[in-house]
Amino acid sequence: MAQVSDSVSKVIEEFAKLPGIGRKSAERLAYHILRVPKTEALGLADAIRNVRENVHYCSSCFNLAEAELCSICADPRRDRTQLCVVEQPRDLMALEQAGVFRGLYHVLLGRIAPLDGIGPDQLTLQQLVQRVRQGEFQEIVMATNPTVEGDGTALHISNLLAEFPVSMTRLARGITTGSILEYTNKEILADALAGRQRL
Ligand SMILES: [Zn+2]
Repeated sequence: MAQVSDSVSKVIEEFAKLPGIGRKSAERLAYHILRVPKTEALGLADAIRNVRENVHYCSSCFNLAEAELCSICADPRRDRTQLCVVEQPRDLMALEQAGVFRGLYHVLLGRIAPLDGIGPDQLTLQQLVQRVRQGEFQEIVMATNPTVEGDGTALHISNLLAEFPVSMTRLARGITTGSILEYTNKEILADALAGRQRL
């Protein structure tokens, strides 16, 4: 890479670290950045800086938030008797886009995956139990992904919450087993939620 300036090499190197971006794509992106108007390129840089400096996890549900609480937890119109448990903020986003769930969420920030060395302690399970203990939830909707690990995580949680007087449900299998929540279309997600079954 001696023929490329250090700054260009650096930006290629950084792009190549992104998921799904190989060396060739990283080069293409870097040259794209050099070709577009300067304001556009700097807009991207600002957006990255801004999202990292201002966005953190909601102190209650672990969704992404720019204030102490995320916009869902802070919304007084949300039904505080229903709690939907998801793996990642992007799963929450998919369910919100389906527009059928009006309760609150709890984001686990992962799933139990023994093969990847991810145990229950690495998830936000203690905070979940705490919320169920203190909250007024009547129903917990398990919306972990329909994968072996997602199912295992849902089962673990149903055991954890067994002592509380809440009904536990799981999204119906409208979602093909193994498919990932965030890629499932709105209608199927809405059906899966409407047809949820007791655990
Ligand atoms: Zn929240």
